[in-house]
Amino acid sequence: MTELDTLKKVLTLEKSKGYRNTAVVGGLDRFLARWADGRASDSLIQPPPGAYADLKAAQRRKWIDDALTALETGAAPSKKKAAAPRARPARKEEPSPEHTLASPVTALPRVTPTVAGKLKRLGVNTIRDLLYLFPRRHHDYGELKKVAELAIDAEQSVVVNVWEAREALLGGRLRATEAVAGDETGNLRVVWFNQPYLAKRFKPGTRLLLSGRVNVFMGSPQMESPEYETLQDGEEPGNMGKQVPVYPLSEGLPQRTLRRIVNETLNAWATRLADPYPEPLRKRVEVPELSQAIRQAHYPAEESEKEQARRRLAFDELFSMQMYVFARRRQWREGGGAVPLAKSTETLNALFSRLPFSLTGAQGKAMEEILDDMTRDKPMSRLLQGEVGSGKTVVALGALLTAVANGRQGAFMAPTEILAEQHYNTISKLLEGLPQAESRGNWFSFKMEPFERPVSVGLLIGSHTKRQRRDVEEMMAQGALDMVVGTHALVQQGVEMPRLALAVVDEQHRFGVMQRASLRQKGESPHLLVMSATPIPRSLALTLYGDLDISALNELPPGRQKIRTRFVPSDRRQDAYDFVRGQVSEGRQAFVICPLIEESEALQTRAATTEFDTLSREVFPDLSIGLLHGRMPLREKEAVMARFYGREMDVLVSTPVVEVGIDNPNASVILIDGADRFGLAQLHQFRGRVGRGEHPSFCLLLSDFPSAEARERLMVMERVDNGFAVAEEDLKFRGPGDFFGTRQSGLPDLRQARLSDQELLSTARREASALLSHDPYLERPEHRLIKEALEAQWPELVGEVS
Ligand code: ADP
Ligand code: MG
Repeated sequence: MTELDTLKKVLTLEKSKGYRNTAVVGGLDRFLARWADGRASDSLIQPPPGAYADLKAAQRRKWIDDALTALETGAAPSKKKAAAPRARPARKEEPSPEHTLASPVTALPRVTPTVAGKLKRLGVNTIRDLLYLFPRRHHDYGELKKVAELAIDAEQSVVVNVWEAREALLGGRLRATEAVAGDETGNLRVVWFNQPYLAKRFKPGTRLLLSGRVNVFMGSPQMESPEYETLQDGEEPGNMGKQVPVYPLSEGLPQRTLRRIVNETLNAWATRLADPYPEPLRKRVEVPELSQAIRQAHYPAEESEKEQARRRLAFDELFSMQMYVFARRRQWREGGGAVPLAKSTETLNALFSRLPFSLTGAQGKAMEEILDDMTRDKPMSRLLQGEVGSGKTVVALGALLTAVANGRQGAFMAPTEILAEQHYNTISKLLEGLPQAESRGNWFSFKMEPFERPVSVGLLIGSHTKRQRRDVEEMMAQGALDMVVGTHALVQQGVEMPRLALAVVDEQHRFGVMQRASLRQKGESPHLLVMSATPIPRSLALTLYGDLDISALNELPPGRQKIRTRFVPSDRRQDAYDFVRGQVSEGRQAFVICPLIEESEALQTRAATTEFDTLSREVFPDLSIGLLHGRMPLREKEAVMARFYGREMDVLVSTPVVEVGIDNPNASVILIDGADRFGLAQLHQFRGRVGRGEHPSFCLLLSDFPSAEARERLMVMERVDNGFAVAEEDLKFRGPGDFFGTRQSGLPDLRQARLSDQELLSTARREASALLSHDPYLERPEHRLIKEALEAQWPELVGEVS
């Protein structure tokens, strides 16, 4: 139904109810205002002058009848121009008919290819993307302060003159711009870290609008890396409106320009955003219409509009994710039956009784849940969550051996070759002491109680030579190999495993959902166990992994070292190095994790190499230091690791990407440089690298110039040592989108939704579930737009489900 149809329906209803202003909840005026909002003032239907509620019965009738006639004939009813409750800004660009919201931004009049390139870096490619480029925040220019009025520790905006700006070197390492600026009431110091080039730009006398938190530096007010805008002569920020959007910036694209582009696009295009939800759904959820919400998200008239818009857009994100998750779940379930696997108590006893420890309560419970799932003919799809060291591998092995006991095959997949090797080694260690039948380079077999023939385990990774792989591949294809450990690539390349009944996938969030589907074999789906070391709070897990059932290992095996964690400010850097040296002199080893550089792996590698050079030449010239980064060939990585494990190396410098899975019980300290750039959950993962043996262990968090908030986050690490609690804390600071880092997670952007949106989240679940139960394949016309939106966002759903 088009918007005009809706209007017509409402007006007809009002007529049939005798013009008593009862057609819509809340009265016609509110409806008309909403309806008129976002439309040009010369559109077909104008709200009555004044309010409908105030009209006499006869006037009401006339207005309604005129409007209905106009809707029928397409001609405006009245020459008299009535003011719409909130007229649109005058500037109006008619969208050219040959373009759509999906057209590239270059279709817009002001967007040159150069500007388009800059927008692309903000993730904006199409006109629609631009409408969805939400401001990071709004300046409240109604609240401009004078310097003398600035309050400490609060976000504020102030207009100042620059007196002096110069490039400075802070802490001997960090290039920055340092400026003194002020107004007639006083001065303040302003520092921009990492942006030395600003010094040249801010000539004395430049007028700046600054926005940020104020703190105290040597007794005077200071702003650190505030947002800034240069003001022209005579330009007053108040002219820009009260709530002015502040967009994320891309180098070379000034805030002012971006703001203008977005604003013009809103005026010309926002009303063309069709709301995918049928009216009743929108009513139930109590959210504004889409185009209205988009406009309000950019230019809210007041605080409540901002929240109302956010709520609508957050609902969209959560609803779409729920639809996806439910659809995926159904896809997996309907994709093919699974082979039910009988529980083999003998096998599990044989495995567990020979371990030097007994399972924790959490492990036992998870094992039960998994085995229960596997006895069904519906494929299991379960997530096993547990932080590093919580003992997931043993549980996985129990499940794999169950598959083998049923005469089937099991696969164990890891995100990297290093991790695959590690799992392979862990499995052979867990089986240590069992009589080996055969042992070749990349496979071995062992004898174990209930099995009549030896059980074989192979390792399959891409960097092994064809010849090395041939044995394993052949055995797999013949069904002669019982278990294979490999990388995710294993599945993608479609390696044959005719009797595959269970696939274990480590580190879910690096394993695309796409790949899950490729596991399916000949109309039969293997049981799927996904493992993740990222502790995710249950509320969030339900949303993100709603297509999986969840088992959680929320306790660590007894006797683990608590890792003492300290935040180290920049002036104590040397102390941190001394501490590392102290540990080394006691025979321990150390990790140094380099700061995270998002831009590229090449830059990351360069930074790590520089850090490695500095450490080995200047800081620890007398120690043996190694370097590990993602671009090294596997063989080289293995050699470095072997030296580290063999204690030939005191300090291992590593980029953040490759650290996962290293297990060296002699390592007792990990120093994380640029700690403020990592999420807490990630820091917690790093920290799990130490404390794996009997030695007291330490984690040092270095950060040169953390913001007040970053400092607070790092302090959390000192206090909290349970992974789930860390994750909860992390989410308080960051939205769920940031929490995962969408870049590597393959998860959708949650830009508006927050973890605290519990009520909205359950509403989204309820609505999605109701929708799918009424219209499982979204075939009804009123659901067409929802279907299109879903398919646009999740191409893998096209044709399959929605
Ligand atoms: P995860 O994969 O969850 O990080 P692992 O499965 O690698 O953890 O287990 C970490 C270590 O803990 C391994 O050395 C494993 O043998 C040991 N372990 C596992 N379960 C227990 C337990 N219940 N009690 C003591 N040690 C355990
Ligand atoms: Mg593990």
